This record gives sequence, C-alpha cells and structure tokens, in this order.
Amino acid sequence: MDTEKIKIGKLMIDRNLCIGAASCIAVAPSTFELDPDNKAVLRRKAMPPTSDATARADLEDQGVDDEMLLLAAKSCPTQAIIVYDEEGKQIYP
Ligand code: SF4
Repeated sequence: MDTEKIKIGKLMIDRNLCIGAASCIAVAPSTFELDPDNKAVLRRKAMPPTSDATARADLEDQGVDDEMLLLAAKSCPTQAIIVYDEEGKQIYP
C-alpha cells in the first residue's frame, strides 16, 4: 500500500477485537485512548469518545496526519482499527 496517497475518511474500532494493548495510543495519543472497559476509543471534538465509525473531520486532533493514523492501525496486534478512505472504501486491514 502506498501510504503517501492515503486519504482517510473515517476510522472505527472493533471492540470485539480490541484487547487493550494500547499500541495505538503509543503511536497516536491525541486520537486514541482507552475507555473504562479497556477498549480503544477515538477522541472527538465536542463529543464523547467512541469506538463507532468516526469521520476524520470529527477527530479532536485535526493536526494528526493520515500516515500516523494508519501507522496506529497497523500497530494494533489484533487489527481492531478499521480505516476507510474518503469514498468509504476499507483501506486497512
Ligand atoms: S492497539 Fe488495538 S488492541 Fe490495542 S488498544 Fe489499540 S485498538 Fe485495542
């Protein structure tokens, strides 16, 4: 995959897959955090964090780059972070 051409449209966390390993948080702490159930959630602006599908434009940190978000997804040992492009096509995993 050519990461330079990646344009992320939305992200979501599969809570059934997430084991709370926190690799995603190590890579992109401004976007990912763990909730009280030890599942990853996405930090959003003006809304509580969620594991549900979240538009990139709703992420709290608009400065984080797509390559970093993709790297966070790739760091997940269980591939629990699903990444979609702007057309809604799944680009990872
Ligand atoms: S890296 Fe994967 S398993 Fe670990 S907290 Fe993030 S989503 Fe969950």
